Amino acid sequence: MNMLKFLVLTACACGLALAQPQAASLSVVPLKGGVYMVKGGSGANTAFVVGKKEVILIDAKMSEESAKAELAEIQKLTQNPVKYIILTHSDGDHVNGLSGFPKGLPIIAHANTKKDMEDAFKDPKMSALAPYLPNQTMTASQPMTLDSVRLELLYFGPAHTSGDLVVYLPDQKIAFVGDLVFVGRDPLIHRQKGGTSIGLAQNLQKMLALDADTFLCGHADPLTKADVRGLMTSIEEKHAKVKGLVAQGKSVEEIKSAMGVASAPGQAAGRFPSLIDIIYQEVTEKK
Ligand SMILES: [Zn+2]
Repeated sequence: MNMLKFLVLTACACGLALAQPQAASLSVVPLKGGVYMVKGGSGANTAFVVGKKEVILIDAKMSEESAKAELAEIQKLTQNPVKYIILTHSDGDHVNGLSGFPKGLPIIAHANTKKDMEDAFKDPKMSALAPYLPNQTMTASQPMTLDSVRLELLYFGPAHTSGDLVVYLPDQKIAFVGDLVFVGRDPLIHRQKGGTSIGLAQNLQKMLALDADTFLCGHADPLTKADVRGLMTSIEEKHAKVKGLVAQGKSVEEIKSAMGVASAPGQAAGRFPSLIDIIYQEVTEKK
């Protein structure tokens, strides 16, 4: 894993802005129907939709500098002002760049995302972000039309966190799914933010039912439905295997070793619990 990716994942894991490496420059990838994906900079991938008169952003990068760079890239493509920001969840690599955008815009998120952000922004080092808490929240899926762009903000229950929104654009058949999918590593579940791996499998199932052919996420290139199906199958297989081994009375260490998960020596304890640790905790916790 290269250092930039490591630091991005680190920031994602703890939800805080950490010392950042020299941010890679942004690249804007045109997709279809006025939708663009933004890669690079500091923080997770973002996306934006150019409407008739306005621009709708999805997620906000991790630093003010990268947010401003994204705004500059948008202005090369359109005169339309950025009018709305939708947040997929509360991790710092998706929200800490908010201070680079104009104050007072509608910021739309799940109510649990707002709560996580309120907690994080109490840190005096985060005071610049205090004016950027979500001001339109929801607790259930909601269709909306913003500047003639049809969107469905879908909430499928706790998964990566307890406030993950899927931003589905039915006309473009694109879904921006934040960190509900990872590629090249196991999914990350923030139990401290109410995330669950069982919920994640259910979220993936519901995503597969969408009439979408392109899935955009925080830390990988665009994915197809087949890619998402592969991830769902993999997590379901791991659930079944852990459940079976727990039923045989195996310990978490025995299960990890049977499933080829190294107990990475030297890794700070609890920093990155493996997916198997998470599934084990969920399977064995007292209800
Ligand atoms: Zn995240």
